[in-house]
Amino acid sequence: MQNIEHIYIDGAFVVPHGNEYFDLFNPSTEQVIGRVRLADAEDARDAIAAAKRAFPAFSRTDKAERVAMLRRMHAAVVAKEDALFEAIVEEYGAPVSRGRWMARHASDVLKQAADTLEAYSFVSRAGTAEVVMQPLGVAGLITPWNSDAGFICGKLAAALAAGCTAVVKPSEMSAMQTRVVTEALHEAGLPKGVFNIVTGRGETVGAEISTHPDVAKLSFTGSTAVGKSILRAGAQTLKRVTLELGGKSPFIVLDDADFDEVVPLALQAGFMNSGQACIAGTRILVPQARLAEFEQKIVAAVAEFQSGDPRDPRTSVGPMVSQKQWERVQRYIRIGIDEGARLIAGGEGRPQGVESGWFVRPTLFSDVRNDMTIAREEIFGPVLSIIAYHDAEDAIAIANDTPYGLQAYVCSRDAAHARAVAARIDAGRVLVNTLAHEPAAPFGGFKQSGIGREYGKYGLEAFLEPKAVLTA
Ligand code: NAD
Repeated sequence: MQNIEHIYIDGAFVVPHGNEYFDLFNPSTEQVIGRVRLADAEDARDAIAAAKRAFPAFSRTDKAERVAMLRRMHAAVVAKEDALFEAIVEEYGAPVSRGRWMARHASDVLKQAADTLEAYSFVSRAGTAEVVMQPLGVAGLITPWNSDAGFICGKLAAALAAGCTAVVKPSEMSAMQTRVVTEALHEAGLPKGVFNIVTGRGETVGAEISTHPDVAKLSFTGSTAVGKSILRAGAQTLKRVTLELGGKSPFIVLDDADFDEVVPLALQAGFMNSGQACIAGTRILVPQARLAEFEQKIVAAVAEFQSGDPRDPRTSVGPMVSQKQWERVQRYIRIGIDEGARLIAGGEGRPQGVESGWFVRPTLFSDVRNDMTIAREEIFGPVLSIIAYHDAEDAIAIANDTPYGLQAYVCSRDAAHARAVAARIDAGRVLVNTLAHEPAAPFGGFKQSGIGREYGKYGLEAFLEPKAVLTA
């Protein structure tokens, strides 16, 4: 049992004013493995005050000083990588290969921000004016549970690179991972108050950060519903807002595609992070004329996807993070069946032979229409919909017929054709014949997948305000 009794304010681990305890679970066993004492609104105000005090000096640090700080933070998180990996597998249930990637990603984003900052020029000219990019002030960073350390480090890296100070509000369900990250970042020895990490509930700590007049910028990753409420909350004081929200990404298989190559990609894109990924390719668009062939190949391939013990290296789909999330996925599988989609793999309940843990069966539906609930709403579990289309025009129309626009995938033997289709997809990122990630490229959503971009220079500028200086 881990008891987490501290939050991090003004460079110190302090006991929160809040006194509610929240249970932490191992999702593979459903056992309570720890508890965390949650911060409350008063703690959030203390953290904001500390960040506000730290801002004047920190905002005047030069680029080289901040690059050095980010590199120290990077080294500190690398040094805790094994502990972070353990916490990720234990508390989140990520399969080991994914868990290793997540633990490394948390430090990578700090290094990438240092590199971006090094190459960035804060001053440019526009006509007769000098344009100076100025840090916004105190940033409130609110993160979800599906990649706790990566989101904390990624948002902090961009905010600090810009010269903002920060208050982070991680998910209350990820307190063990947050503890490892916080201890690592403390080792980096930044000035007091530059970053503060306050684990508490969204309705209290999150709401205080979203409304407090001393917070100039909000960067939020999470559900579209909460994102909208944060936008409304921040409007009163006109906070600058970056929202990274949900997705219902199309995975477009063009009619000339090589299914032996595409099927494994489609399953990886759909089941990444055990399906708990905003960028998961959950709508697989397949040419009607080749549907039977595709189904046959994907059903054979999905049998190789083991859902179970995340410590078994053969496992590619771990448990859902919580009972609530498990029930949500079950509900959507039932809705898919009730609305007339054809189940071709998986289904309700746990995988065969698994008695406990929030494990689900990797599930495929075919004959899905794009107006069905399972094609429109984000499930956030390993449940994929195969939707047949007639021609490329039809595929593009279906791909874009969604309230979301975070990511899309296009596969074809003809790269030029695939790029032509990609050009017509409304999504912040389109991956053509690949699942690669590019940290220098902007990441974020069209439509209800969000506002603004993260990563690289776009992510840095999300924490800056341009100021034009004209002189006689
Ligand atoms: P969530 O929206 O429930 O919670 C996200 C964070 O917001 C948590 O820290 C939560 O405590 C906080 N929060 C909740 N209510 C709040 C309020 N009223 N005011 C301020 N903060 C509040 O999301 P979740 O369940 O933790 O994560 C899953 C969701 O995140 C999915 O919808 C997924 O698509 C999305 N997501 C998006 C991206 C992206 O980059 N676009 C990445 C990962 C996850």
